[in-house]
This record gives sequence, C-alpha cells and structure tokens, in this order.
Amino acid sequence: MAATTAVLHGTLKPGDHVVVSDVHYAGAAELIRSLKQSMNVDSTPVDTTDLHSVERAIRPGSTKLIWIETPSNPLLRVTDIRAVAEIASSSGALLAVDSTVATPIATRPIELGADFVVHSLSKYIGGHGDAIGGAVIGASNLLQSLRTVERIYFGGVLSPFNAWLIARGAATLPVRMKFHSENALQIAEFLSHHPKVDKVLYPGLSNHPGHELARRQMTCFSSLLSFSVANGAIMASRMAEELDIIHYAVSLGSYRSLIYWLPTDEMLSTAFLLDDRLAAKYRESAGDGIFRLAVGLEDPDDLCEELDRVLSVV
Ligand SMILES: *Cc1c(COP(=O)(O)O)cnc(C)c1O
Repeated sequence: MAATTAVLHGTLKPGDHVVVSDVHYAGAAELIRSLKQSMNVDSTPVDTTDLHSVERAIRPGSTKLIWIETPSNPLLRVTDIRAVAEIASSSGALLAVDSTVATPIATRPIELGADFVVHSLSKYIGGHGDAIGGAVIGASNLLQSLRTVERIYFGGVLSPFNAWLIARGAATLPVRMKFHSENALQIAEFLSHHPKVDKVLYPGLSNHPGHELARRQMTCFSSLLSFSVANGAIMASRMAEELDIIHYAVSLGSYRSLIYWLPTDEMLSTAFLLDDRLAAKYRESAGDGIFRLAVGLEDPDDLCEELDRVLSVV
C-alpha cells in the first residue's frame, strides 16, 4: 500500500481525475475513493475489461492516471493492458498496473505499455506469508520524484530483515509460480465439477470470460480463484473450524493455501461503493458472496480431498 500511495501521490494533484477498476484490491479501492476528500482528486470506477467504458470515463485534460489490476482480486477479471495503455497514452494519462496476482513471471506490463507496475511483495514474490513489502517499477524519470518525495514523506521503506526475507523468497519465484498455477488449475477443475459448487472464477478455465486474453497476456494463470456455493456464510464458519491443510485467513501468494469468505453485501457497503449498474455486475459474478482461494504448494490431491470433505457435509 505504500507503493500504491507513492504512485497516486506522485502522479496526481488537486483537480486531477483518475479512472480506476471498479473491483480490485479493497485497500486501494478505498484509498483512491478517499482522494476526493483529501486531495480533491475525482475518481471514476469502471469495469476495465470493457474498453469502451474506460474510454468514456476519460475526462480530456484532467484524467492523469488510469489504475488497473489484472487479474483482479477477488473477481479475477482480466484487463487488456496493451489496449488500456493505448487509451492512456492517447489521452495524456499514465497507466499504473497492480500486477500482484499475475507476478512478473506471468505478465510484464511495462513491455505492454504500462508506465508503472505495482507489486505487493507480501504475496507471491516473498511467497512465505512472513514479510510485508511493496515495489514500484517504471522508467527512472518517473521513479525519481517517488524516491525523493513520496518515499521520504510517507516512509515506505523496507526494513533490512524484511528485504532479506523477500529476496530469499523471490529466488524460488519461477518454480513456485509453475507449481502454484498447475495446482490451481487442478483445484479449479475439481471445484467446477463438484456438485456443491455453483460457480468457479479462474482465468485458467476455458469458460472464463478473460481466458483467451489471459492466454495472450499471461505465461501462467497464477493461483488465485474464487468460487460460490449455496449457504456460503454457513460454509465459511464450517471451513474456519474444519479446514486443516488450508488456512482460513486473508492474503494470498503464500506456499500455504489460504481461503476467505467475501460476503457481497459487506463488500458493496465497505470496499466497493458502486452505482446500481456496476453493483449488479458484481452480484452477477459473486452472488451473495464468494470464497477467495489462493492455492498454495501443497499436494493438490490432498487439497481436493480436504475441500471435498468440507463441502460435502452441509
Ligand atoms: C495484498 C495486495 C495489495 C496490498 O499489499 P500489502 O503488501 O498488504 O500492502 C495490493 N494489491 C493487491 C492485488 C493485493 O493482493
């Protein structure tokens, strides 16, 4: 979030406007909305998978930044980075991409035209769920003022110990991502065929609306997926009690599988204050709520067996 704050503060000034994904990392969604109060920066949330919506949201002369997240947390929408980069550059705005879920192994947004890439190092890059950090990647002229102004004002500096943990974790990122993705595809397919599961959102599944784009833009599909079941709230408390291998907890990108229930009413009243049309779209994907599952590096057969055991009881 320090990395996100640095990019927002470094690129926007009072009176500017930002176009932002309607559904993405909750902390960033809340922060960007709050810029109206704190900095007089207006933001327009749009479904960034719909390029016409992105174009229509641009306010010529005042839109200075487009902020996208792909794949997005928790709906796993896939946004076309190259196409949005073209919209950004033709309207004089910069493009920032939160690529935390994809990781640098799957997607290289700078090569597709992004100006800034933001990663939470706390997730796949660190990979062990034991250190918090972030990174901003971009051209050195763009990063210069973030280094000299935002880093100092906001103090977003890693402690040496966290930097060491993250660098040590990052050494195995390529092999971990390969395994994470293979595991997630197996779990996503298993869940798709499970009688208790209504819907699975995972870009690696051929029925996912972003699948073809993901195949072009990602070299693997990472390991974040969401799924819905009937009576999700009851299932969530069962999971919190009964899961053994999988942790019932927030976050993602750990070697350990993490699952968490995201009830739609709560998401729409706290993180995403969407207009009726976008809220209806959220409900269309998420129903009353979804389980976000960040598949870890455990034996995939064990994970399927455990999910089956918990899902089959209610
Ligand atoms: C977790 C996360 C963040 C924030 O990262 P922190 O390291 O917790 O500050 C930002 N974006 C995405 C997509 C995330 O998953």
